[in-house]
Amino acid sequence: MKKLILVKFAPEIFLKGLNRGKFEKKLKDNIKNSIKDLDYEFVEDQGRWFISSDVMDKIIDKVKNVFGVMELCEVTQVEATLENIENQALLELDGNPAKTFKVETNRANKNFTPGSMDVSRKVGGHILRNNDSITVDVHNPECVINIEIRNMAYIYSKRIPAVRGLPYGMNGSTMLMLSGGIDSPVAGYMMARRGVELHAVYYHSHPYTSERAKDKVKQLTNILKEYTGKLTLYVVPFTEIQMQIIEKCREDELTIIMRRFMMRLACALAEKYGINSVTTGESIGQVASQTMEGLVVSDDVSDRPVFRPLIAMDKVDIIDVSRKIDTYETSILPYEDCCTIFVPKHPKTKPRLVEIIKSESVLDIDKLVEKAIEDMEIYR
Ligand code: ATP
Ligand code: MG
Repeated sequence: MKKLILVKFAPEIFLKGLNRGKFEKKLKDNIKNSIKDLDYEFVEDQGRWFISSDVMDKIIDKVKNVFGVMELCEVTQVEATLENIENQALLELDGNPAKTFKVETNRANKNFTPGSMDVSRKVGGHILRNNDSITVDVHNPECVINIEIRNMAYIYSKRIPAVRGLPYGMNGSTMLMLSGGIDSPVAGYMMARRGVELHAVYYHSHPYTSERAKDKVKQLTNILKEYTGKLTLYVVPFTEIQMQIIEKCREDELTIIMRRFMMRLACALAEKYGINSVTTGESIGQVASQTMEGLVVSDDVSDRPVFRPLIAMDKVDIIDVSRKIDTYETSILPYEDCCTIFVPKHPKTKPRLVEIIKSESVLDIDKLVEKAIEDMEIYR
């Protein structure tokens, strides 16, 4: 008899047809990587994955956040005989206040007899004969006793929901524009959860934004790293660009022109490092620059897809996710970001592309972009 954690992966992975093997391998690597600092043993039994360890709680904490893992079950492994299974199933109810139960059996090992229906029935009978305080309810049981019969048999009733999603690194890559706010870390998390590899860029307006603002972004990067394994942060100096815009462009167009620069820089970095796409934390209508017209005008300078996973979410939903992923407390630390310092009094909410292109043509755009990238700092 041995305690193990059964790792079940998200059903989406089963749908990957010929690519399923690749998705499984990536998921397995990511799981092992997440617990590489802990002592554990990874075992497989007829397509099922198990982890044994003396530090189960720590393993569970890590593995439940690995994208692609659907749930973790605390199982007891026994030699596959009906008697062992019956005994363990009965023990499984010890200390459980449930008044009703049912048994569910999954038998992958076809050499084992009887069949799964009969196993459930026999185990149920054994429990009823030996435990007076519980009855069967097949429709709405308070406790489900699960039995998996592989080479060994596994009995469990405790299931811990995990993060789901797809294995990180299986779905291309994106350059996340990461500010210190609430939204962009959530946007990055949502992309990462779909298997997209993250890289992050922060536009730093020293000395108008402090070192502490930069530290905050680094801190957010570290939190996201808990989910992604590794994550590079590019810190791009943005002051010169902003100064030029303020000096040479119309006040009500500052924000949109600045956003076009942010987009250009993200694309330039993506090109430099072979990254497929760009992601932002924008949500339609949230602020003056996040109008449909504004988004269209900033997308105009992008040479690759721009993803905005929060586009149709409201702030309450976004905050819910940020609390769940643990970025909220850091995001609300009160350090100014570059956008709050250089906000025009009446920003254009319906910028017109031709006008903006004309306005910014007084700037040496390529040179400004090139110089900013030349001077960036990289944190790996
Ligand atoms: P957030 O909460 O992510 O800061 P926000 O609601 O403050 O978003 P904006 O300031 O309009 O919205 O920024 C919109 C998006 O632009 C952000 O979600 C982020 O992706 C990107 N962005 C804004 N400022 C920066 C910055 N200094 N560095 C990198 N990206 C930025
Ligand atoms: Mg912001």
